[in-house]
Amino acid sequence: MDNLDFERAMVATLAEIIESRGLKHDPTAQKAWPYKKAAGRTWQAVRSEQTGQKLTIRDAYALAQFLGVSMSQLCAMIESRELQMQVAGKFKKIGGCVVFQKSGQLPNYETLLCPECNEALTVNGDAYVCAHCKYSTNKHQTDEAIARDKARYGIQ
Ligand SMILES: [Zn+2]
Repeated sequence: MDNLDFERAMVATLAEIIESRGLKHDPTAQKAWPYKKAAGRTWQAVRSEQTGQKLTIRDAYALAQFLGVSMSQLCAMIESRELQMQVAGKFKKIGGCVVFQKSGQLPNYETLLCPECNEALTVNGDAYVCAHCKYSTNKHQTDEAIARDKARYGIQ
């Protein structure tokens, strides 16, 4: 997990705590961050995958404190979440597609998946297309990217 993943995992964990307690995001942010003018909007921008606004340590601390969770508890939750994901495997982006890689195994190159919705891609002319969300990507470029990735593992 790199530093960005860690930050995103912290945001996701804090959001889960809020939801698991049946709290609403907007008023929770306002109460946790009384020093902010637009606390609700800030928390929304932090949670959004599109904006992915940074979560500062001081805001994370204030939110955790409001929720009655210590920073060490919060970090432990993030680490156990990461551990679960490692066991389950991960999606690896290669070229215009993603492949699933179980922990300690080679990526599954047999099934190319859509980076938008993780459904299997099918060949359509010179493109890989997703029947589910209509995503499409250049087949030639993706095949080359996969060949390069395989070469790194020493397979043809
Ligand atoms: Zn898709």
